[in-house]
Amino acid sequence: MEIIAPTDAGLEKAAGILASGGLVAFPTETVYGLGGNAWDPRALARIFEAKRRPAFDPLIVHVAGIAALDDVADLGALVPGARTAAGSLMEAFWPGPLTLILPKRSRVPDLATSGLPTVAVRLPNHPVARALIELSTGAVAAPSANPFGYLSPTRAEHVAAQLGDRVDLIVDGGRCPVGVESTVVDVSGPVPLVLRPGGLSLERLRSVVPGIEVLDRTDPAPKAPGQLANHYAPRRALRLVPPGALAGARPESRAAALVFDAAGRDRLGDAAPRFAAVRVLSESGDAVEAAANLFDLLHELDAGDYDEIWAERVPDEGIGRAVNDRLYKASKKT
Ligand code: AMP
Ligand code: MG
Repeated sequence: MEIIAPTDAGLEKAAGILASGGLVAFPTETVYGLGGNAWDPRALARIFEAKRRPAFDPLIVHVAGIAALDDVADLGALVPGARTAAGSLMEAFWPGPLTLILPKRSRVPDLATSGLPTVAVRLPNHPVARALIELSTGAVAAPSANPFGYLSPTRAEHVAAQLGDRVDLIVDGGRCPVGVESTVVDVSGPVPLVLRPGGLSLERLRSVVPGIEVLDRTDPAPKAPGQLANHYAPRRALRLVPPGALAGARPESRAAALVFDAAGRDRLGDAAPRFAAVRVLSESGDAVEAAANLFDLLHELDAGDYDEIWAERVPDEGIGRAVNDRLYKASKKT
């Protein structure tokens, strides 16, 4: 495995590896992706193998422009209302941290969609990602570049540490600015449905399509694949507590505390010395900054000399919902 800078020559090299069936990790605005040629079933199989990802968890296909979207998805197969909603969402939020579930074209390999008749598509808003997709095969399947279930990578070093030689090349584009995965919206049915909260907030989605609903995670038989409760998890145990509850915490082992803002650190008060370390997601209480720092801080604490991580939930609005979703899933690891 080699790490290169996103120069013209670097991107040419990365595109060549993708075109010949290899795996390239690259930056997007959300997290680093583990990319493979979306048209090549062998490359797709290598993605699942490298991540140890179960074959029932479908991939997101990344395109660099609307023209390539038509190669991947069949917008004509949508019911008229859904077609309007899908068009409005693309218009408003692409390129950006929004993944749409759409009817798939038959030429998209079944491995990319785990056999589903729908495909997840995203048009990323990161210059390196877009240049690479355009230079290579026009459609690049890319889940997050981490072993299945583990913390998502927001820096090239995270990818190198987690995947090592299971990836052929890493393009280092610095830190991912959004820091949490894309928001996944299923527009293949009559009512648009948020399957996964992410970098694009529900409030912003609803400002464009007011009727969007949210998948009920308490549903015992979820209709969406890849909605496993334990995900995005550090190796250390993570305990998730309500805001303010860390003040009463009595960790019995060497624990690190993760709080939302400076006020959260102040609220720790007498409890602070009981923690070996205290980290703050955003000093000023900015949810966007908290999201950008989330995986970075979790990677740091997970690599540190702590037995446990105790984290406080953040305010459940805007991108804070995605932060709480990732913390919740990280806490569910057993
Ligand atoms: P990841 O690539 O790890 O960020 O995860 C992609 C997620 O997109 C999966 O875990 C699924 O929840 C979702 N997804 C991908 N394809 C589909 C699909 N055809 N239908 C519903 N959800 C999908
Ligand atoms: Mg992932």
